[in-house]
Amino acid sequence: MIKFDLHVHTIYSLCGIHTVLELLARAKELGMAGFAVTDHGLTLGGRLNNPFFERFKSPCPDVKILKGIECNVLDQSGKIDIPRDFIEFIDVVLLGLHPNISLKLNRDAYTDMLIAAIRKNPCVDIITHPNDPHYPVDYRRLAEAAKAHGVAIELNNSKILYARSETACAMELIEACRDVGCLMAVNSDTHAIHELGDDSSVRPLLKAANFPEELIVNRNEETALEFIGGRRANKK
Ligand SMILES: [Zn+2]
Ligand SMILES: [Zn+2]
Repeated sequence: MIKFDLHVHTIYSLCGIHTVLELLARAKELGMAGFAVTDHGLTLGGRLNNPFFERFKSPCPDVKILKGIECNVLDQSGKIDIPRDFIEFIDVVLLGLHPNISLKLNRDAYTDMLIAAIRKNPCVDIITHPNDPHYPVDYRRLAEAAKAHGVAIELNNSKILYARSETACAMELIEACRDVGCLMAVNSDTHAIHELGDDSSVRPLLKAANFPEELIVNRNEETALEFIGGRRANKK
């Protein structure tokens, strides 16, 4: 199980089906240390909720809730849909390639887009699901750029759980991060509540690749918070 899940959607994403408090109750039941609420950016119809960002505090001291967002890459220049008004309240910024961009580009173009976005936006902490088959990415080149900027690459449990990405591609991604020494975040990308904290689809792959545990930023609560805290200065 993921002790500190850094990629969780709520009803504030068009594709999310649970409230923050329902997810919190489930996290408590599972004995999780915490999770990050990371609803989609405006480009994918995410509803950014002012009181959540400005006022919400976890009512449960045992389970920490971080405030995050899953941003979208907007163009080749590295522009992303981060809501600048909320940035001071945001703990963690995820960034991924999503259906707002063209499906007709090639691997180099998608890789360049992500790398440009990492360079242009120091607030980005984690690149989500680069093994989405709709947007092929050069994992090694991405891992090198991510490492240079202290950014983690996500290993997404849902993509494997629902067979939306081939296991071989996830293995290739893990091996690229291992060989380059790039940080990884193991996340559930929860939409439905039973997915919270689940890493059962990717855990065997990490084992098979002999992936160094110390490169996993959310291997426990302390390391997750240390990673996020260490990047706090970039949120402005
Ligand atoms: Zn995504
Ligand atoms: Zn997501």
